[in-house]
Order: sequence, then C-alpha cells, then structure tokens
Amino acid sequence: MLYNEPSPLEVKILTKRFGLANSESLDTYLATDGYKAFLKAVEMTPEQIIEEVKASALRGRGGAGFPTGLKWSFVPRTSPKPKYVIINADESEPGTCKDRLLMENDPHQLIEGILIAGRAVDSHKGYIYIRGEYRYLIEAMDRAIAEAYSRGYLGKNIRGTGFDFDLYTHTGAGAYECGEETALLDSIEGKRGIPRMKPPFPAVVGAWQSPTLLSNVETFSAIPAIIRDGGAAFAALGPAKNGGTRLVCLSGHINKPGVYELPVGFNLLRMIYEVGGGMRNGKKLKAVVPGGSSCPLLKADECDISMDFDSLAKAKSMLGSGGTVVLDEDTCMVKFAQRIMKFYAHESCGWCIPCREGTNWLKKTLDRFHSGAGQKSDIPLIGELSKNMLGRTYCALGDAAAMPTISIVEKFPEDFEAHLNGKPCPYEHSTELAMA
Ligand code: SF4
Repeated sequence: MLYNEPSPLEVKILTKRFGLANSESLDTYLATDGYKAFLKAVEMTPEQIIEEVKASALRGRGGAGFPTGLKWSFVPRTSPKPKYVIINADESEPGTCKDRLLMENDPHQLIEGILIAGRAVDSHKGYIYIRGEYRYLIEAMDRAIAEAYSRGYLGKNIRGTGFDFDLYTHTGAGAYECGEETALLDSIEGKRGIPRMKPPFPAVVGAWQSPTLLSNVETFSAIPAIIRDGGAAFAALGPAKNGGTRLVCLSGHINKPGVYELPVGFNLLRMIYEVGGGMRNGKKLKAVVPGGSSCPLLKADECDISMDFDSLAKAKSMLGSGGTVVLDEDTCMVKFAQRIMKFYAHESCGWCIPCREGTNWLKKTLDRFHSGAGQKSDIPLIGELSKNMLGRTYCALGDAAAMPTISIVEKFPEDFEAHLNGKPCPYEHSTELAMA
C-alpha cells in the first residue's frame, strides 16, 4: 500500500516496485530483477561483497549513519561460533515511518539483502525484529518468508547454490528502547530489553554471545541494488561518503506529507517546497526536525542545507532515521519540547539515573512552563538539566532526549519568554502538530 503520491523528483531505487500490482509477491519480485543480486553474490567471495558495499558509501539508515561495509568487515567470519544476521525493524522514532513501507511493499528485497549479508559474513540464520505495534507487518513478512521457502529462496541449498539460510520474524513488545541494538539483542534472547555495555560490539559479541551483523531494514533493502548495479553507481547518487538514496518521511505543516526516496544530499528547502508542496496554508517556516525526534532542530534560516550525514553534523544536528518534521510559524516550541520529552520520559527504560530522573524532571518542568506557571530561572534550568544528561547515560536515549531540548531552548528563547508571568500560551489558537 502507498500512503502518498510519488514525487517526480524521487530517484526510485529501493521503492521502484512500490505501486506495482502485487508488489509484495515473489512473482513480481522475480519479474523485476529479483534475487539476481543474490545469485551474483554467491559467485563473489565474501571479501568482494564487502568491498562492493564499502564502495557504495552506504551508511546505516537506522540513525547512527555508520559505514555499512566497514561494519560488515568487523564480523569475524572465521569464528567457529554461529554468526547471526539481525534486522532492526523496531521503527519507533517519532517522525519516522519508512521501514514499514519497505516491508509491506517489497519484503523480498529485504530478504535478498539479508541473504547477501549472510553470504558476506558466513551466517546461516537471521531474525527480523519487528516492533509489536506492526502486527500486520509481522504477518506480511511471515507470508513473504513462507513464499521464499516454498520456492527455494530460503532454507537448504538455496536455488542450488549450496548456501543455506533460515530466516524468522521476532516480535518486540513495543519498547522504543529495544531499537537500541544491544537492548534489541537482550530482547531477542528473551530477556528484558536493556542496553549492554559496549565494547564488545555486536559484530564480535552479539546474539547469544556470537558474532552478529545488526542493521536497519532500509540498510539491508539497499544491498540488492548495490550488488546488482555496483557500489560505485549507488555511491554516485549522493555526495562523497554519503552514497545512495534515502527514504525521507516528510511530515508536519506541509501540503504533501509522505515518504519519498531522494538522493542523499537533497537540499532541505527543496524537499519542503518542491517535494512536499510547500507550507500548509501559506504559513512561514519556523523550524525543522531533520531526521527524527532525537535530532537537534534547525531554524528556518538554517534549512538551506544538503541533507547528508556530514552537512548536518556540521550544522550541529543529525540526519538520523529520516524523519523530517516541518514546523510552521504558529508552532509553540515549548509545547513541542514538552511533547518530545513526554515521549522520552515514557520510553526511558529506567536503567540509569540521568535518563530516568532527567527526562521526568524535564517533562515536569516543561509541563509547568507551558501551563504558565514557569519562572524565568526555569529557562536556563531546562538547558542545564539537558546538558547534564548528555554523554552521561548508558545508551543514546538520554542524548536523544537532551539534544532536541537544548536546541529548542537555545534557538527559541522568545517562545519561553512568552509564557512567563502566567501568560497563556500565545499559540493556543494554532493547529495541532502532525507528527508521525
Ligand atoms: Fe535506559 Fe535511558 Fe539509560 Fe538508555 S539512557 S539505558 S533508556 S535509562
């Protein structure tokens, strides 16, 4: 199913089958180059596959943006232990909703990417960890997996290549924290999902203490095109060290919200005005969350920017998981900060104090502030509390809660000032923010 009209500015690599009749079926997949990349990969050495992925400049699409080929090279292929391929389909970042489209519309592309990864790291077993709220997708993936088994694209001696691979879905229980890779591993092992100390990293000591290649759905879905058409062709779509396309989840106060596949490095203002149809009701742009709720916000005058990992890092923000939320001039930034913090306070697993206590204190302070009971001293306090969480938590959730809050306090002090002295929120008349 598609949720929006495609844009003529899209470059359709991962989404090229979206909109085809029965795009999720194996027959449609086979009729449109499906599994050709896997058959090519079994003729290559594992080293050649990894070099091709390195050449593609693909960086992890789950949020951190780590170079994928390098990650694959860390898995000790010659280890006598079993190796696992684990697919992070725990898509929970507010603003991000693209992995579900990839699984719904083209599950075999994902399966093929997993098989190639298995071949590259000498793994014969994989698990797709799907968030519990995506119940319908678990059924859709199970159907695709069953179809692949029935036609010899999974199981023993796949298509006569001598390569074996078994693939399973695994259901999460709906905790945002389990999107963190080591918490996901604990969850998949049947334990409470809390993060592990790193190092060792999962590539070396992962699931069941064994080497594990763990990446996001979009990352694995990009692999068939890279092997089929060559890493260089994929790399050429984006700026240096930022290869390929990216599924951008464009939401908020724009005319055409949706998921669009655009080259990495596409200009953010063009994304808003040419792909997203411009600001809703002709309003002015106020701010953008560039890549999901954990990213520091950009002010309107910072939005003429290339949407690649390095340009956003230079702007002290992040490309994150591709959830681009556009905010118009009527948005109350105090309320926006309050809404983000409510999410993180709820999702904190409670394992470490700065995150457990910090998110709850920040939520209470922002609630009080937005209600008009705030004091001037609360404004620097919100910033200081957030900064005290940065880098002091066990996993990245603490930073994810702190970073957008710091950027909001620093970039929009006037919105905080406007709530002082018992004044009602000046934006109360404005529309509710649409955030996926
Ligand atoms: Fe849990 Fe938050 Fe600590 Fe992560 S940062 S381990 S979510 S309490």
